[in-house]
Amino acid sequence: MAYRPGSFSKNFAWRGKGLHKLHAVIRKGFRGNLTPVARQRFRDESGLGASLSLIPVNFFLNNLNNELSVDELVFQAIQYTHSARFDRLALFAFHLNRVGVFSQKDARPAMWANEFVRERLWLDGVWQSSALSVSSLDDFFKDRIRAQEDVKVKCRSNYRHLYELCEFLPSPLPVINSGADYWFRSSMFLAWDRHVLAGGSDDRTSLLSIVDEDELYKLLGLTREYTLARANDVVGRYFAVGGVARFTKRKKEATETVLSSAGSASDEQIMDELAIHEMEEEDAAVQRRTVERQEQQRDQRKAAVLKQHYRNTCMFCGIGLEIGGGKIYSEAAHIKALGKPHNGPDKKSNMLVLCPNHHLQFDRGVLRLHRVGEHYQIKSKSAGDSLHGKLIDFKHRIDENYVKYHHDWHK
Ligand SMILES: [Zn+2]
Repeated sequence: MAYRPGSFSKNFAWRGKGLHKLHAVIRKGFRGNLTPVARQRFRDESGLGASLSLIPVNFFLNNLNNELSVDELVFQAIQYTHSARFDRLALFAFHLNRVGVFSQKDARPAMWANEFVRERLWLDGVWQSSALSVSSLDDFFKDRIRAQEDVKVKCRSNYRHLYELCEFLPSPLPVINSGADYWFRSSMFLAWDRHVLAGGSDDRTSLLSIVDEDELYKLLGLTREYTLARANDVVGRYFAVGGVARFTKRKKEATETVLSSAGSASDEQIMDELAIHEMEEEDAAVQRRTVERQEQQRDQRKAAVLKQHYRNTCMFCGIGLEIGGGKIYSEAAHIKALGKPHNGPDKKSNMLVLCPNHHLQFDRGVLRLHRVGEHYQIKSKSAGDSLHGKLIDFKHRIDENYVKYHHDWHK
């Protein structure tokens, strides 16, 4: 099917830091309140020109009876400062392409983008960089967008611009790390908010079924199995906070608290609640890694020999972890990970010997290596980490390509 591009063909070069401008526009348009706002008033207050103000309204926000709803995207914009997480959630909102029921005809105005991700970008549980090349997109747009050639070109540049702002482009690797582990809960909340706002049922079964029916895992750049398993956990949280009614509920509670002047500030409760969500997301991601690690077929012998070679001491911190009985414990870490989508090889030139803590940090990309002359140096994303800048001595040959791959994947 071919779609009309509508206002997406407007030239919206949102230069600068990511989708900072969209973040600011949402705050302005909602005046910092978690209350629905009339479409027209939002447009007037957005600070954007008449035609450009249609972009956030028609492609990113949820419309309901000429009002813009409060949902997870609006909440994230108002509650938090701008971040890369917000940008990626906004791109997800764009791809989700459920922007309300203000008009049947325009209810899913960028269906082509949704179809692009599901048909071309996602393959085998991960996004393919090659799908975002100019020629690949032009090929897709050829019969999917109904417009003049120059309009199609504008759409293509706008669309690629979104990926650039989200730092998915340019991509140094054949596959793109969507980072969805870190915005998983918010993306599920958003998808469910919009499903319910559009009149969908809010029972557990139907919320979980849209993950499959709408192929949300593709929009997240994850595998189906992993997404279904995590959605199953997250749906409980969604009910616990009150579903899409959580914003109105909170406001009412806050008012009542003030009226009865009975202590506990609900803002703090909300922040605690969110902190817990974040921790849960971290835990789930760690669990996933552990499962992946266990599932992977390894040549234990090779790893054992290498660990012996380093006397079971961590190549990063030099610690040999005593575990009783005179034994010292270490782990063999793969630089380019085994299994999909990385498919790193199980050989010594792709291995490090690390303590469990640094193994986890290395797998998560908190610690990375980069080459300096003849040596490798540790880069740490953890503030004040004494390992940052440390030069590593290798007692075995490692393949620089794997180090580069790991470095770029976690960029
Ligand atoms: Zn260590």
